[in-house]
This record gives sequence, C-alpha cells and structure tokens, in this order.
Amino acid sequence: MGTAINVELWHEDAEQGRNLTRSVLDEMHRIDDLMSTYKPDSELSLINANAAEGPVTVSTELLSLIIRALDYSVITAGAFDITYASAGQYYDYRNGIKPSDSQLQQALPAINYRHVKIDPQAATIEFMRQGVRIDLGGIAKGYAVDRSMEILRSAGVENAIVSAGGDSRVIGKRWDRPWNVGIRNPRNKHDIVSMIPLENSAISTSGDYERYFEEGGVRYHHILNPGTGTSPHEVYSSSIIGAVATDTDALSTSVLVLGVNEGLQLINSLPDTEAIIIDSQGRMHYSAGLAQVQ
Ligand code: ADP
Ligand code: MG
Repeated sequence: MGTAINVELWHEDAEQGRNLTRSVLDEMHRIDDLMSTYKPDSELSLINANAAEGPVTVSTELLSLIIRALDYSVITAGAFDITYASAGQYYDYRNGIKPSDSQLQQALPAINYRHVKIDPQAATIEFMRQGVRIDLGGIAKGYAVDRSMEILRSAGVENAIVSAGGDSRVIGKRWDRPWNVGIRNPRNKHDIVSMIPLENSAISTSGDYERYFEEGGVRYHHILNPGTGTSPHEVYSSSIIGAVATDTDALSTSVLVLGVNEGLQLINSLPDTEAIIIDSQGRMHYSAGLAQVQ
C-alpha cells in the first residue's frame, strides 16, 4: 500500500499475539493485491482495463467497497469520486510529473461517478464512457484497517490499535487509558498539534503533505478536486473521527476537497462523526461536537 502499517495488541499468549500481528499484515497484503492500481493483474486493474468495453464481473468484496465509495460521492455531492483517477493517472508525484493542459481537458469529462454502472444482481461493473479510471486510494486503507480489526476481534483481542498511514482504528484501551493518536503539524512532521484520546473508534487524517511536489510555487498533491482535476489548497489537513475507518478515510479525503465551511457542514450533518481541520493559515476548525469540549 506504499505506507507504514502499525499494529499493537494485548494478548495473554505472546506467540499467538505475534501470529495475529502477522495475520493483520497478510490481510493488508491481500487487500493491496486486490485493489492496487500499481499491480497490472489486481482485480481493480482488470476493471480499469476492460470496463469501458462492457460489464466486468467483480468479486462481492470489491463490488461492495466500490458501492460504498459511490455512496460517498452522493453524500459529498461529488467531492469524493473514485473516477478522479481518470485525470489522477497522469500525475506522478515522486517524479514531479503532472498532466499537460490538453491532457487534463481531455480527461476531465471522464471524472464523474455517474459513469460507473453497477449491476448488483449480476455482480458486474461497467464504465459508460471511454477514458474512465477508478482508484480506491481514498478509502482502501481505512477498509483494510477495519478488516484487520475484525480479524483481531474475532480472535478475542479486546485492546488493540491498527494503523495504515493516516488511518487508525482502536478497540479497548492501552493499559488503563484511552489510545492516543496524534494530529501532526501539516508543515512540520516532528510537531504534533493535538493528541486525540480514542476508545473503540477510528480516526483518519488526509493532508496535502503526504505525496506532493512543488512547481512554480504551486503544491501538486495527491488529492484532487474532481471538478478541476487539480489539488485543492484551502485545507492543509483534515482529520475525521468516527466509528469505522472505512468511513473516516473517505470523509477525510472528502473534507480536504470540500474546504472548511462545506466540510464542517457535512460532518455536522453526520451522526457520531467529528472533524478537526487545519486550514492554509494554520488555523484549526472543529466540528460541533468537539467545539463544545474545546
Ligand atoms: P493517504 O492516507 O494516502 O494520504 P487519503 O485518505 O488522504 O490518503 O486519500 C488520498 C488518496 O485518495 C489519493 O492518493 C488518491 O488515491 C485518492 N483520491 C484523491 N482525490 C480523490 C477524490 N477527490 N475522491 C476520492 N479519492 C481521491
Ligand atoms: Mg481518505
């Protein structure tokens, strides 16, 4: 997944604890093999290669995650859109490459989640237009974290944390205290601006500092506004707290695109979901449920 995985768990039996840690890493690899766009034979790559030609049969697991991602497109009025990749495929952040203006203009009409047609009965997916690409990078890590936590829970683990990059989920406690997950200063990776105590919940942070390059004073980062195919600049980082990591992952990416006002509006409309947003002036903004405790 191109990211650091962290697993901490409590178990009476050290050997079993180690085996469970290994099971989590195996699960992460399994999901990466299924959904990576870097692996040409992943199920997701096969969809991207063939779904514009006609319906492609998809495993129920991948199909349900795609359906969940499309639901988020509806909830966010298109800010979260897995077809962002129709333009996103032309960016290479490591090598400082971005699409040319004409490439971008050609790709833009292919960005629209409505181009993705699902037939749940037949378990197929089809792209209704040439040039459509999907990428689950904005939700897959959260999903992998949730799946991993299910493995630990069904093995009887009651206290654990699992993180994949900026997506974490915790159950129980760390000794007698809540788990703590830090929100870093988006412009200084050694500086933590806030520690968030968590019990039985998930937190995801999306930032403009994860993967990016700069050119002509502009930061090109890995989250794209589906309307323009370019990176939004109003928000440096958005952290979302909720019940499960699949949702907090999709929402943290969404809020980075929506900006402060629309982002907070969305989060305040969702039950048991909170946000901490750091804007491009370094100011922090809190959702209604957190503003009360500030
Ligand atoms: P990370 O933990 O990798 O920093 P995020 O949860 O912030 O990830 O998601 C960023 C990833 O989401 C990008 O690398 C890309 O794969 C995907 N993405 C970028 N823009 C969008 C968007 N508008 N809608 C959905 N997914 C997106
Ligand atoms: Mg995300």
